[in-house]
Amino acid sequence: MGKVEIARAILAAEAVKRSADHQQLRPIAELDDPRELALLSRIPPGMARLKLEQSAALARLPVLGELMRAGLLDLDRFEVVRKWTQNLDTTQAQTVGAGLAGAAELNSKELRAETDRLICLVDPSGAERRHVRAIERSSAVSYQSMPDGMALLTAHLDVVPARAIFDQVDADAETLAEDGRTWGEKQVDVFVDRALGKGRPVTVRTDVTVSAKTLLGLTEEPGYIPGVGPVDAATAREIAAQGEWDRVCQVPGCTRPAMQCEIDHARGFASGGGTDACNLGPLCRMHHYLKTIGLYRFTREMDGVRHWTTPLGFVYTTRPRPITEPEPP
Ligand SMILES: [Zn+2]
Repeated sequence: MGKVEIARAILAAEAVKRSADHQQLRPIAELDDPRELALLSRIPPGMARLKLEQSAALARLPVLGELMRAGLLDLDRFEVVRKWTQNLDTTQAQTVGAGLAGAAELNSKELRAETDRLICLVDPSGAERRHVRAIERSSAVSYQSMPDGMALLTAHLDVVPARAIFDQVDADAETLAEDGRTWGEKQVDVFVDRALGKGRPVTVRTDVTVSAKTLLGLTEEPGYIPGVGPVDAATAREIAAQGEWDRVCQVPGCTRPAMQCEIDHARGFASGGGTDACNLGPLCRMHHYLKTIGLYRFTREMDGVRHWTTPLGFVYTTRPRPITEPEPP
């Protein structure tokens, strides 16, 4: 195959993908259940909520939806416009969308600039109102585990303090002596000093699951921290020495530490029922609630295999996967 044919094949596959993305996205708003979607597509709940918002945005941005369906616009660029117009009212968003009929010709950066320009035309006096709305809707600090003992800490905030913090970090880092640290290491070191307060003792409760052998220092098997992932044996021992052990919610895809187990225990005991949710395994506050109201069904077999049945009747099964091998009998 010549290079022209190869390029055409890439383009043709891209068009199929764009169209398929549209076909998948369109009915999600109708399903209107991010929890079911998360299980169905094996995506985290936050991603499922984003898909639902993208699906709903197709009604606000029909011109762009049509470009996707025709294989001319990809989901990433559609998302740029959705995000940029989410704090406009429906009529304004539709007007901006209608002005973007040429979106297929623009890359994501150009599309962002063009969307900004149209927003200024459509809603010239609304900058302050959109800003207040964006602060309400989008302000958040989030945490994401990264490989090799790292994490990504992000803050979504007002541009003014964001810029001030960023410049302060650089100014602090400039004052550090040349000691072999990279610029990035210096930035992070001064950021951590500012955030945690330099030299001040910090108390943070962390739960860790760790084998008895690791705890006693007999092996170097890793431990596990809910919401963080595996940690090396030394770290696990250090954290375990500080506090209690815990486990995570047993619903597939959920990594929340189980906080609500006792409540179901108390209820079962008072009503004289033999069923004890703690025997079934821990459930977080939200999943415990969904089970209690009968929307979802949770069962666990003797060997620890768990079944989570959704309102649509899909059954999701997970097997316990210990980070360490079981102890010999
Ligand atoms: Zn849960």
